[in-house]
Amino acid sequence: MKEQFLGVDVSSHSYERLKQNVLDDINEKRQSFIVAINPEKILKAQEDQDLKALLNKATYQIPDGVGVLLASKLNKGGIKERVTGIDMLLTLCEQAADNGKSVFLYGAKPGVAEEAKDKLIEQYPNLHVAGVLDGYEKDEQKVIQTINESGADILFVALGSPRQEYWIVDHMKELNVSIFQGVGGSFDVISG
Ligand code: UDP
Repeated sequence: MKEQFLGVDVSSHSYERLKQNVLDDINEKRQSFIVAINPEKILKAQEDQDLKALLNKATYQIPDGVGVLLASKLNKGGIKERVTGIDMLLTLCEQAADNGKSVFLYGAKPGVAEEAKDKLIEQYPNLHVAGVLDGYEKDEQKVIQTINESGADILFVALGSPRQEYWIVDHMKELNVSIFQGVGGSFDVISG
């Protein structure tokens, strides 16, 4: 279920439905890719067709920004809840903790993902963080191998947008991860 704004797709599932879909994807071993869409990204995509195609490649485009809700309302659409990238990250961690799934934190400056991991475990004590890796590791093969060896179900990629989204699309096939989400500066925010 999608609505389009200036050629950019946004998922119109309720948040509850989205959460269930993601859990089903993990259990049924389907790969899916989550991207947060805000008006800034929609405008950027007007001048960048590659970016527009990339955003539309995602499985779930979450409505991050009241501007998207307003546009949906004006188009008589059905998107009613704003879901920020960080909300989605926290929800996925909660779901992972409740359902025995694991997460991997990739990106941000050395030490930041480790601190974010500690904060997330404080909040969700049952959360299994399968691994962390900073976003300045140059050896791509090492990155792929470390993530694959961790056995993580969910991968958060914090390399900044749209680099993280290009990275996800370029490497999805090589990774045995089910859910991919580009999370921008979220590890910096969570680590405090
Ligand atoms: N980053 C990274 N590797 C790089 C460049 C950036 O890991 O080569 C990280 C950076 O440390 C920060 C995040 O990517 O944690 C980008 O955050 P920003 O808030 O700029 O992203 P946005 O949310 O605007 O996409």
